[in-house]
Amino acid sequence: MKKYLFIFVTLALVLSQTGCTTTKKIPTANHADYNFNSTLWMQTSAEYAANSIQTYQTASRNLPLLLADKHHSASLEQTSSFEDLPAAIILDIDETVLDNSRYQAKLVLEGNSWSPTSWDKWIALKQAGAIPGVVNFIHFAQKKQVKIFYVTNRACNKRADNPHPCPQKQETIDNLKSIGIEEVSPDNVLFKHDILTQNSAQNWTSEKKSRREYLAKKYHLIMLFGDNLGDFIAGVSKNISNEFRMEITYKNRYRWGYQWYMLTNPTYGSWLNTLKKPRTDYFKSY
Ligand SMILES: [Mg+2]
Repeated sequence: MKKYLFIFVTLALVLSQTGCTTTKKIPTANHADYNFNSTLWMQTSAEYAANSIQTYQTASRNLPLLLADKHHSASLEQTSSFEDLPAAIILDIDETVLDNSRYQAKLVLEGNSWSPTSWDKWIALKQAGAIPGVVNFIHFAQKKQVKIFYVTNRACNKRADNPHPCPQKQETIDNLKSIGIEEVSPDNVLFKHDILTQNSAQNWTSEKKSRREYLAKKYHLIMLFGDNLGDFIAGVSKNISNEFRMEITYKNRYRWGYQWYMLTNPTYGSWLNTLKKPRTDYFKSY
């Protein structure tokens, strides 16, 4: 009996060493692994810079056309009575205006995933850079008297060592100023759960629809900028299939590159969060 057991164990060992096994190997990746190339691309490639510059240059070229058009709004939430309102543009902040790739790089190098604690420390540093092309675009729009609003899912969180109810908001404004966006005040920056804005009773969530509705009461929204589908369309960040996200994107095809401008972000976002099966299941191979 011992002899047969020895043969069986030896055979099993040989098979496992030589890869002669019927078990399908499933590749896995943790956050740090799958952001290696993505972060490298954002930080080092001329292609990424060219893509962002291209987006903002196209927007600059289209701005006079959109300013002249009083009959269309970039916001799906704005359907009437906007013709005589002053023009405004909404930009998301992270990976649309501010470049947080140094935060991502630190996660990759240290093998960590995003966490509220490390993200809050990064915000406090106020060291995010500018997405290529954005500062020139904002200056161009401001010269044309267009109001700029930043609708971000950065949130107010009290810190143990700071009595201020929302230190993150001033830090974000300081960071925006540091990249050359001088004209920015707390009223222009709309946080998630923003307790510093007069209409905080609205309890703004990560769904940006209510903030677009809020701005649509006072402004004609002529352009939207973001790196997430939710920066443009409501109800696309949770409990939704990637097929439907794709469908709704194509349905609005005439808006892209005219009223809507999508910045590239391969490192995180609702595109990734909405994938519910093991991610390898989504690869299309042959
Ligand atoms: Mg963003």
